[in-house]
Amino acid sequence: MKPSTKAIRIQTDRTNEMEHSTPLFLTSSFCFENAEDMRAAFADETDDNIYSRFSNPSVKEFVDKMAALEGAESGYATASGMSAVFGSFMALLKQGDHLLSCNAIFGSTHTVISKYLPKYGIEYSYIAAEANEETWLAAIKPNTKMVYIETPTNPGLAVLDLAMIGKICKEKNIIFNVDNCFATPISQRPIEFGADLVVHSATKWLDGQGRVLGGVIVGKESLIKEIYLFCRSTGPALSPFNAWVLSKSLETLDVRMERHAGNALYLSEQLQNHSAFESLRYPFLPSHPHYCIARQQMKNGGGIFCFELKGGLEAGRNFLNSLQMLSLTANLGDTRSIASHPASTTHAKLTEEERLAVGITPGLIRISVGLEDKDDILADILQALD
Ligand SMILES: *Cc1c(COP(=O)(O)O)cnc(C)c1O
Repeated sequence: MKPSTKAIRIQTDRTNEMEHSTPLFLTSSFCFENAEDMRAAFADETDDNIYSRFSNPSVKEFVDKMAALEGAESGYATASGMSAVFGSFMALLKQGDHLLSCNAIFGSTHTVISKYLPKYGIEYSYIAAEANEETWLAAIKPNTKMVYIETPTNPGLAVLDLAMIGKICKEKNIIFNVDNCFATPISQRPIEFGADLVVHSATKWLDGQGRVLGGVIVGKESLIKEIYLFCRSTGPALSPFNAWVLSKSLETLDVRMERHAGNALYLSEQLQNHSAFESLRYPFLPSHPHYCIARQQMKNGGGIFCFELKGGLEAGRNFLNSLQMLSLTANLGDTRSIASHPASTTHAKLTEEERLAVGITPGLIRISVGLEDKDDILADILQALD
């Protein structure tokens, strides 16, 4: 079966009720027939469910679908994208290790890397999204244990070369960890380019309807085992209810992403030459600086485009205040189109200098394109620009 079919057909075994849609196992613990079965489960001699911090059928169903979509051996689901990112760091890095990341990463991930990892004696350094192979090789230290990147990046939509970085990590025996939140496995499967781990904020496109928080890490069995052991003790488990919502969402991920990306391409083509813009970026526009890499590793350009308004902060504020339909909210990856202003929201904790280094100018606006009719979205953006 193709991954998109698996995302629909993988399902927890039917119960005696013969339900068609998947049941929800909203339970914190599981029962045993007798003391011996319970002893064996606790001794890891069986795979029986014990407690939902460790495992739960609704959560397993979501993880199995994500592993199928990403082409991964195994996975573990967490309460949010950030707990997936944090778990993948803390389970695999130790005092004295070095983490190499890109300076264009999600705001909270930047906080974890630069503020919290050093508290545990884990070093880090950043490399620019535009870095070539030589610069990457020069940035690797003898104690580099993990490379962590996002592509396309949030919010600047830089595209990093997965095959090039994957090759370097393989040669140097470094764990390659990719946040695939923006592209989703429908557009891009980092494991095919050498990633060992893929992390997601399931809160975004995977849910796709702005309802629940969730996260997931998939990848190599041996690494996931370490992450599972760390997480089952420290407790960032995904709620079975949220897992059930997310598992149902994955049934429609393929068709939703096709529409999101189709709408985003249409809008960016229609708007790219608008006189109000300094620039407009979408990975599948030939004018994008990393267009060739995007075409090599992505099946579609994703559901996000961004633009820089002439007139900076003031123009950005006026634009947001003039929108009538698009939502002003922190989330992305919803059925409803969303406009946001990274400099004053998601990336406000960075210094002005750090923001500029990763292309977050004062007038940058990020549009998460929804499933509304593309001409209704276009009309709202155009009237706000007027
Ligand atoms: C939102 C986001 C996260 C964090 O996910 P939460 O579910 O909000 O914890 C991580 N990476 C990227 C790229 C994101 O957009």
